[in-house]
Amino acid sequence: MTHPTACDEYAHQQRSPWGERDASDRRAMLTEILAQVSMEALQGDTLEAVLQRIVDCVARCLPVAIASIILLNDDDTHFVQEVWSGGIGLELPIELPWPVTIGAAGRCARSGEAQLITDVQADADYVPGNRDVKSEYLVPIRHRGHLHGVLNLESTSADFFTAEVCAMFDAVALQIAGTVHLARVVRELELANRKLEQLSMSDGLTGIANRRSFDQRLVEEWQRHAQSGESLALLLVDVDCFKALNDACGHVFGDECLRELARLCAEIVDGMQAHVSRYGGEEFVLLLPGCDLDTAQQLGVDLCRRVEALAIGHPASVIANHITVSIGVSAGRPDPRQPPESLIAVADRALYLAKAGGRNAVVARSCM
Ligand code: GH3
Ligand code: MG
Ligand code: MG
Repeated sequence: MTHPTACDEYAHQQRSPWGERDASDRRAMLTEILAQVSMEALQGDTLEAVLQRIVDCVARCLPVAIASIILLNDDDTHFVQEVWSGGIGLELPIELPWPVTIGAAGRCARSGEAQLITDVQADADYVPGNRDVKSEYLVPIRHRGHLHGVLNLESTSADFFTAEVCAMFDAVALQIAGTVHLARVVRELELANRKLEQLSMSDGLTGIANRRSFDQRLVEEWQRHAQSGESLALLLVDVDCFKALNDACGHVFGDECLRELARLCAEIVDGMQAHVSRYGGEEFVLLLPGCDLDTAQQLGVDLCRRVEALAIGHPASVIANHITVSIGVSAGRPDPRQPPESLIAVADRALYLAKAGGRNAVVARSCM
């Protein structure tokens, strides 16, 4: 249930209009409206919704024909967003974004000073939005020296914007500035969080997914396949004689090879539903949802050939004069009583056999 606000009371009870109130009654009303605006600033899910509530509140409670909040871009060169409310139509001859070189709002943004226009017809910068408007008050929306936009208030009466009324709108603008600032901080935090999450899931050297990402995906796919009864396959790819390559050609060259191999692993599953990650050191893992053992083994054989075709020189290999890989393959319908790691354990044993058999080879083992 929503309680009627002070502002609603003034509006609905149709108590004496603004012009008929005495000074202390007006002061009390302005104070209550300010409190109401502060409350509105805490409601609403998005910044736009909050700003809309604020301008609605102002336009509902006071003889303000138009109340609008016009936000600037980051460089303060253009107004890019406007939220407005009012009892009369607003027809702006210019579309957003509009440069701050135009209009009384532009003058407010450029000078950083509030602008009181008691006769809009006499103001060279005033851009008419409605012919009934007589006076206008514009306040910079500024938080700690950072200008976010302009609060624009237009009245059909020439003498509405008294010092007291203007002071209240100055306070409203401060409130809006705090709200906009908070919303922007939240947006930046959300972006930073997203970036951090991406970074925490990717491998710094090769740019593909990292072990953490793989561990998560394996659990998800294991459970999903245990339910569906589909086969899940895994390729564990290990570079042959990589330590010797580092020793012979240096770690920088070794790093470059790892990048090339990561790129190839990602390329070979391109278009397939697969998760490719760096498992650790010189090992990569390809997780293949819905894939059976034969298909996975064939993919392993293709990958072995493609690595050979790269023909990256390896002067210290005991198998060839170029880089080769050994691959352990496992696949099967996950048994929900077994842990997801059992898929890796089987591929690991197969990889051991590939190494023991002379390397540059693929060995596949079923998980059943
Ligand atoms: P095998 O054929 O039996 O797999 O022998 P290997 O030399 O490839 O395997 P081993 O486990 O003995 O050595 C792996 C090497 O990978 C040791 C380590 O220095 C190197 N390595 C691990 N991570 C990186 C990395 O990020 N960059 C580089 N350049 N080398 C790495
Ligand atoms: Mg290894
Ligand atoms: Mg190795």
